[in-house]
Amino acid sequence: MHQMTLAEIARGLADKKFSSEELTKVLLARITQLDPQLNSFISLTEELAIEQAKAADARRANGESGALLGAPIAHKDLFCTQGIRTSCGSKMLDNFKAPYDATVVAKLAAAGAVTLGKTNMDEFAMGSANESSWYGAVKNPWNLEHVPGGSSGGSAAAVAARLLPAATATDTGGSIRQPAAFTNLTGLKPTYGRVSRWGMIAYASSLDQGGPLARTAEDCAILLQGMAGFDQNDSTSIDEPVPDYSASLNESLQGLRIGVPKEYFSAGLDPRIAELIQNSIKELQKLGAVIKEISLPNMQHAIPAYYVIAPAEASSNLSRFDGVRFGHRCEHPKDLIDLYKRSRGEGFGAEVQRRIMVGAYALSAGYYDAYYLKAQKIRRLVKNDFMAAFNEVDIILGPTTPNPAWKLGTKNSDPVAAYLEDVYTITANLAGLPGLSMPAGFVDGLPVGVQLLAPYFQEGRLLNVAHQYQLNTDWHTRTPTGF
Ligand code: GLN
Repeated sequence: MHQMTLAEIARGLADKKFSSEELTKVLLARITQLDPQLNSFISLTEELAIEQAKAADARRANGESGALLGAPIAHKDLFCTQGIRTSCGSKMLDNFKAPYDATVVAKLAAAGAVTLGKTNMDEFAMGSANESSWYGAVKNPWNLEHVPGGSSGGSAAAVAARLLPAATATDTGGSIRQPAAFTNLTGLKPTYGRVSRWGMIAYASSLDQGGPLARTAEDCAILLQGMAGFDQNDSTSIDEPVPDYSASLNESLQGLRIGVPKEYFSAGLDPRIAELIQNSIKELQKLGAVIKEISLPNMQHAIPAYYVIAPAEASSNLSRFDGVRFGHRCEHPKDLIDLYKRSRGEGFGAEVQRRIMVGAYALSAGYYDAYYLKAQKIRRLVKNDFMAAFNEVDIILGPTTPNPAWKLGTKNSDPVAAYLEDVYTITANLAGLPGLSMPAGFVDGLPVGVQLLAPYFQEGRLLNVAHQYQLNTDWHTRTPTGF
C-alpha cells in the first residue's frame, strides 16, 4: 500500500479498494517503524490524521470526490498548524503551538488531505543539508551516511522512503528542488506569489515560496492544485486564476524550445552529472523538443547576491523572536536586554545566528549601499538574463545541483562550501520564476536531478514536460533499498 502515488491512491479510494482510514493507519505504522533511521518527522499527528481520514471517508460515502480527499500528506514544520507544535526546526519554537492554520494547511485540509505529521527541516529553513535542525540531522534513504538535502530534507526523506506519497515544502533558494534531486523525487517551486505565504514562517520573504514534493510530476500537479491560489492575507499573493494542472500533463512536446545555458556546464559541475543531464536532453529531443544553447551571463553573481539578500531579510524577520512574544525564554533574566540576548543566544543555532549577523551588517547604515543595494541590482540583472532567454526558448534545462548528496558532517565546518552548492537553484528565487527538479539517474548509487525553469505562472508547462519525460523514463520509480 505504501508504494502508491497520490494518483493511485485517488483511484483506489474512488474505487473503494481501501479507505483513507486503513491507508492512514498503514502509513502511520510504517513511519513509527522506519523513521527512527531517518529522523524525517519532528511531530506525528496520529489523532488528527485518523480523525481527518474518517471525515474524508464519510465525505466520499456522501458522494464527494476529489484527488486529495483522503490523501495522506505531511507538512514541513514551518507551516503553522493550529494547536500543533510548529517548530521551524528550532529550539526557539520548540514550545510554540500555532494559534491558526497556514493558508496552505487550511486549503489542503478543506480538500480532504490527511495530515500525518510535521517534517524535519533546517533551522528556519537555512541550509542545504538538513543538518542545522535542532531536532538532529535527517538521513538520506538512498544512503544513510549522506544528507537528504535541505532545507526541506524531512519532507524529501519521508516521501523518498515511501513513508507517505507527498509532502509540502518551501523553497527560498532551492529547498524544494535540491532535496528532490538528492532523494530521487519531483519537486516544484512555483512562481513567487502563486502559493500563499500566510502562516508560513518567514525566512526571506521576497524569496520564500511553498510547493509540492512527490515522486511524480502527476502527483506534484495534484498537490499544487490544492495549494495554489490568491490569498488576501498575503500581500504578495497574485490574483491569477489557477489552471487545471492535471489537464495539461499530456500536451505534446513537439517543437518545445529548450534552452541550455552554457554557464551551467562549468568546472564546478560533476562530469557524471553533466552526462546524465545530456541523456535527459536526448530523451526530451526524442519527444520532439528542440535544443538551443543560451547564456545567463550574470549567473556567477547570484550566490553572493542571494547570501546578502536572504540574510538581510532573515535578520529582520527573525527579530520577532525576542523571548517575549514567541518561543524560548531564558531563565532569570537580569533585565530586558539580558532577556533578549540570552533568549536569542540560547534559542537560535549557529547557522541562524551567523545569518542574522551577516544580514544586520549588510543592512547597517554604512554598508547598506555597498552590499544590500548592490545585491538588489544584481538581482535585477539575473531577472533580465532570464527575460532575454525566455524570448528565445520555452523552458530552461540544466542540473539541479553540481554534486550528488554529500556525506553527513562534511560541510559543517565550511558554510561557504555549502552555499556554493546552491548555484543552479537560487537564480529562480531571485527572479521569482517557477522551477522543477525531476529524477535523471544515479551517481555512485545517489540520485541526480535535472532542473527545468519556465516563465512566470507556467507551472503547468513544467509539470507537462516532467510528466512526458516520466512516461518515457523510469528513474522516478526507483526505490531506495530497505524502504
Ligand atoms: N540553501 C539555501 C539557504 O541556505 C536555500 C534554503 C531554502 O531554500 N530555504 O539559504
